[in-house]
Amino acid sequence: MKIGRNEPCWCKSGKKYKKCHEDRDKQKRITVQDVIDETKKATERVCLHPEANENVCNEIIRAHSIQRAAILQKISRNQHVYSFGAKIGAMIKTGRIEPKLIGINKASTFTGFCNYHDTEVFKPIEASSIDINNEHIFLTAYRSLCKELFAKKYQSNMIPLTKQGDKGIRVEDQIAFQSFIENYKSGVEAGLNDLLESKKIYDSYLLSKNYGDVIYYVIETGEISDIVVSGRIHVEMDFNGNELQTSEERLDYSKTLDEISFSMLMRNSNGLIIFSCLKNEKKSIEFLKSIDTINDADLPNSIVRFSFEYFENAFMSPNWWEGLSAKNKEAIIERMNDSIVFTKRSNNALKDDGNNYVSWKILNRHKNF
Ligand SMILES: [Zn+2]
Ligand SMILES: [Zn+2]
Repeated sequence: MKIGRNEPCWCKSGKKYKKCHEDRDKQKRITVQDVIDETKKATERVCLHPEANENVCNEIIRAHSIQRAAILQKISRNQHVYSFGAKIGAMIKTGRIEPKLIGINKASTFTGFCNYHDTEVFKPIEASSIDINNEHIFLTAYRSLCKELFAKKYQSNMIPLTKQGDKGIRVEDQIAFQSFIENYKSGVEAGLNDLLESKKIYDSYLLSKNYGDVIYYVIETGEISDIVVSGRIHVEMDFNGNELQTSEERLDYSKTLDEISFSMLMRNSNGLIIFSCLKNEKKSIEFLKSIDTINDADLPNSIVRFSFEYFENAFMSPNWWEGLSAKNKEAIIERMNDSIVFTKRSNNALKDDGNNYVSWKILNRHKNF
């Protein structure tokens, strides 16, 4: 590659070549300490409430919701759960991610609300147990949305360090690495924009307290789930393999796609698995309808496949994870690692993969459409 030392680097970092990829193959690889240092800087501490301002917002808290703290406690063993950790680490190491035990107090780094707004907004779903109504479902979705936005900002803030993950490797591998990161970066940026747009809409519902447009599908199980996941995705295909938003639409980052929020919570000693969207999100409603076609015997495993197909922030009960067969574990690890590559998800990704992961008992299904 012929490139002047003062020209912009080929990797699109915006830096001059001499300050970027020149002699990168001879540089020292990124260390765990580099990642830890950057993690601190990349973790924002701002209140995401639409009426946030310095006169109202008191200290930013590092909060589990009471719900989440309770459920993590329930699935933990000696205060530990399994987690895959961040994909970003795997990318830097270019290895594969596998679950590790972490302390439940480390199972979330969500510093996205001040104490005042966190308490005020989420009081209805914290003080009493969650009811299955539009207001409570909206608040769980709002919380998932804010957490997802927070996580996406973090990923975005980590990209400059991630781009240095090719220090000390061969030039041809640097090119492949940078093209992978560029692809990753456009996905993160598109995701961030989508979330910011959705946040505006959800903020207006929050402020007006008018929750009439909330659509939900809630599954109540006879036991607390062995995994705890929450987040927000744009729907791609339904549980039966029907494409809902085409791969062209998925890759057109300028388009806003229909989305769903997903949370796994509990009520008394039962599990609550909550999917929701808004009334005008027709594709999302089609997705919810496809859940309704799954019979009670298949539904728990369908939820597990969905969770690991889409969400990296899954926390797992140690007793459950360690009790899985080697084949089941491998299927989950494969699914998680495959999902690092953003563009190749098959329409059949959510269909039966022949593995039996869980045997939760379906008690009830609640829907409002
Ligand atoms: Zn460069
Ligand atoms: Zn605040």
